[in-house]
Amino acid sequence: MTRFRVVFVSNAESAERWAETLRAALPEDALCFEPGAVPPEEVDVVLTAAPPPGALAPYTRLKLIQSIWMGVETLVVDPTLPRDVPLARMIDPSMTRGMVESAAAHVLNAHLRLDEFARQQREARWKLLRTPTADQRTVGILGMGELGRAVAETLLQLEFRVRGWSRTPREVEGVESFAGDAALPGFLADCEILVVLIPLTPQTTGMIDASFLARLPDGAVLINLARGGLVRDDDLLAALDSGRVRHAVLDVFNVEPLPPGHRFWTHARVTVTPHVAALTNPHTAAGFVAENLRRLAAGAPLLGLVDRARGY
Ligand code: NDP
Repeated sequence: MTRFRVVFVSNAESAERWAETLRAALPEDALCFEPGAVPPEEVDVVLTAAPPPGALAPYTRLKLIQSIWMGVETLVVDPTLPRDVPLARMIDPSMTRGMVESAAAHVLNAHLRLDEFARQQREARWKLLRTPTADQRTVGILGMGELGRAVAETLLQLEFRVRGWSRTPREVEGVESFAGDAALPGFLADCEILVVLIPLTPQTTGMIDASFLARLPDGAVLINLARGGLVRDDDLLAALDSGRVRHAVLDVFNVEPLPPGHRFWTHARVTVTPHVAALTNPHTAAGFVAENLRRLAAGAPLLGLVDRARGY
């Protein structure tokens, strides 16, 4: 007997990439990868990533909307999303590991001034630049959630001085904790390297602007692995042009793919990566979906529940 009728609705993720793995992980459920092929009012669960606005409105009897991405900013702001239906996001240890690797690589790169040596090489310039050891370097993490905490733990193992900022106080052993808007200036003041891992919400949209960047120490490095909408591009470019911000590593952008003429592509102080800091892995993600559907069937608490009012 079928447990749940499940439909995959996404323009951003291809059904082909997910179908086989999801079918294997959800043998008790009826899966459909062509949204138009089943009456929406008969669907129990939607699996989705960045659906077009309004795409979930016809699903009137849902028991769960399960995002197959960790970021759910497009879902929470869609006013047509069925109300009162639990919305869960993906929490996948494999993605967390990917993010930890990306963040650690970029932090070490910035710490060792490899961006500057790359610029020197382009000019065939041999100049020794000294770097302190990691225990003399302060790295800030903006957003101490699932990913931020995991990154903090690895940076602590590398012996960096780590500080974190979140909405509510988050105690992580060895991390200097800052919480709330009032604490933001004090947090930023010593961040020689700043790793951004905060969700995009109405409160955080555009928060990395001129006044935010002016609070960083001179020559700081910005590493944005979260969402492009957090950054005001022109303000960041001005800070890079003046050298106030020494380098920016950008994995995410206001418009993706990053448009061909955008200055980030060619700016000597910018590293561009194509939204690859932590890639979804259908094999491990399917395990998370299976666990949440098991919980849904058993009436047990769901994992990764999103607080729609908070926006993440
Ligand atoms: P979580 O929801 O687990 O953590 C978010 C953190 O940000 C929390 O510490 C939260 O505070 C803090 N926060 C949220 N809003 C505010 C605010 N207004 N003021 C202060 N702090 C705030 O998210 P994850 O760690 O799982 O993921 C973070 C983001 O990373 C995702 O939203 C996604 O956009 C991005 N991402 C990027 C990927 C990539 O490949 N580039 C891949 C996966 C995710 P509190 O602890 O108080 O709740």
